[in-house]
Amino acid sequence: MNSGLLKTCAIFFLAFSPVAVKSQQPAPDVILLNGKIFTSDAAHPYVQALAIRGERITATGDSAKIRTLAGPHTKEIDLGGRTVIPGINDAHNHLTIFPSGRIDLELNNPDPAWPEMKAAIAAAVLKGPKGTFIRGDIAWKIFRDPAVNRSALDEIAPNNPVILETLTNHAWILNSAALARAGIRESQPDPAGGRYERSPDGRLTGVIREYAVFNVERTFSDQTSEADALAKLHRTLSAAAKWGITTIQDMSNDLPPERCVALLEKLPTPIRVRVMRMPGTTPAGRDIQEGRPVPRSSNPLITVSGTKWMLDGVPLEGTFAPRDDPATVAYFVLHEQLTFPETEIAAMLQESRHDHDQLLVHVSAYPATAAMLNAMKSAGGTQVWAKQRVRFEHGDGLTPELIPLANELGIVVVQNPTHLAAVRMSPSFDNDLWEGTKAQPLRSLLAAGIPVALGSDGPTNPYLNIMLASLHPDRPSEAITREQAVIAYTLTSAYAEFAEKDKGSLEPGKLADLAVLSQDIFSVDASDLPKTESVLTMVGGKIVYDGKVIPPTPRAGDRKR
Ligand SMILES: [Zn+2]
Repeated sequence: MNSGLLKTCAIFFLAFSPVAVKSQQPAPDVILLNGKIFTSDAAHPYVQALAIRGERITATGDSAKIRTLAGPHTKEIDLGGRTVIPGINDAHNHLTIFPSGRIDLELNNPDPAWPEMKAAIAAAVLKGPKGTFIRGDIAWKIFRDPAVNRSALDEIAPNNPVILETLTNHAWILNSAALARAGIRESQPDPAGGRYERSPDGRLTGVIREYAVFNVERTFSDQTSEADALAKLHRTLSAAAKWGITTIQDMSNDLPPERCVALLEKLPTPIRVRVMRMPGTTPAGRDIQEGRPVPRSSNPLITVSGTKWMLDGVPLEGTFAPRDDPATVAYFVLHEQLTFPETEIAAMLQESRHDHDQLLVHVSAYPATAAMLNAMKSAGGTQVWAKQRVRFEHGDGLTPELIPLANELGIVVVQNPTHLAAVRMSPSFDNDLWEGTKAQPLRSLLAAGIPVALGSDGPTNPYLNIMLASLHPDRPSEAITREQAVIAYTLTSAYAEFAEKDKGSLEPGKLADLAVLSQDIFSVDASDLPKTESVLTMVGGKIVYDGKVIPPTPRAGDRKR
């Protein structure tokens, strides 16, 4: 080999060595090494290491390769074999607030009977001053007992507002003091999509349903002071960061979007929040003006887009079905009533098109699901809707015959895995009947190519939700793998908000939103999944939660040679 050729080889080598790459690209700020990093990128599902500069990932690969990128000021995090996932994107959450001083009844019983609840309320009355709010959770025993109503609550708590909430939050029972605090008069007309139940003599029973509940929730949130609201949001968002949640998509029913954005800016929020309009209704109809014009924030963590409407109730309660209706949960998932007439669905589609705004609809039973798909077919079909990513929240009633049409229309399903375990709590639950409904599909949706995202809409713990998605207790044939559940909870949740180019997977160029986990969620026993926590959460490359479990590593340049 002559010396000229050697020189050429050397230049060639230099040009393509990591050293040369380093001289072209600034060194990363942080590198994460020696991990089991699940990327949510189907092409490279697992890597050992990644590099971050500014708010984005600049490289992924094995630890040796990523280490060569480090500069003198690069911070090194040795993961010690820990599992890392893209930050969880909780695609369906509700940021709720309530005036402080409320007594929340804790009964250690998810389905209390009336005597137990009655005793708890009586004890709470003695605890706080007159006028103290008392709130309790109920399920079937009390919901199915029409004797538990406003008068029964008035007898034990005449001077305290009392609210009993069903676990789905689609029906409440209020006493007279709570009705008064909510500003509901005896003659109050029903809001669109909601009901104030009345006895045959026309008197309010205290039971309110659907949009009547959402409107009253808004009233109480309006009565919440800024200090109380900030404290509650701080607790919620800090807890989320501790779970490794880096985005919450908030159905903004408690908070009008302007107030929600102002509060998040003031905190300021540690994680990303997408605020979605979820306006209430009046007797005259839906409030389509709320959040118009759409508020914008200068904080890049806060975005506002999308509008959500509720098209039906929940099969557990049957929208407006009487409380003692003997129909089963399996019957309701196939036959449940809609909250709005179908002309309103056509109007929602028109508004979405006019505003270039994503439409999200709560559909939990077959009739509303079919009505929505048919309305989309009539309003332009695939040509208009295939790329609009109309979201079905829950989508329990997306039965096999509807799946092809939903797929053609580009529907994104956002399922909430704790709901997959809630149905069996109904006394009318029957395994065979439920299986026969073909409700709550997950695996069939993925097989058909329908994007499935996950959100909590209940207990926030993402690992409880991953457990339930991967077990699907009521229909195990529709369970998905843990990897599929994590992809749904990260990349597809980002897709569900048109943000998959920026986040949702750990790939070069994407935002460094990630969570280092306390245990390997891909190998632990399913029953241990809910114990998982994040030990280090990053949003845009910044640490927003540090469990102080990972020992600090000196910067690469400070290491002794
Ligand atoms: Zn919800």
